[in-house]
Amino acid sequence: MDFGFGIAPSSSINLDKVDLSLYRKVKEVEPDIERCMACGSCSATCPAAKFSGMSVRKVILGLQRGQQKEVRKMLSNCMLCGKCNMVCPRGINTRHLILSVCRYFDMKEEQK
Ligand code: SF4
Ligand code: SF4
Repeated sequence: MDFGFGIAPSSSINLDKVDLSLYRKVKEVEPDIERCMACGSCSATCPAAKFSGMSVRKVILGLQRGQQKEVRKMLSNCMLCGKCNMVCPRGINTRHLILSVCRYFDMKEEQK
């Protein structure tokens, strides 16, 4: 029977089944990733955020949730300006972290 509306697919994530391989690889070279407290200061200062939704906070959360496709798409909007690096209260070298993640996706080779 068609009621004229549908139920949105569930957006829940089963954390027992997500692929954390990329997060573990990044953590080996960027152990500071565990210090992120998801405060959002990086996103608030990012010049690309307003136009593209780029957010280091979301990149880190995406890695922790196994959302590799979404992370890759988001990283393509980063200009590597380093502004997020200056405001992180945890002192995480976010620009370096972004470059490390990009290496696993073979992105931004020309910007290293
Ligand atoms: S500013 Fe630092 S601690 Fe805050 S969300 Fe961004 S990376 Fe995490
Ligand atoms: S380095 Fe990337 S994520 Fe950080 S502020 Fe610049 S554009 Fe945004």
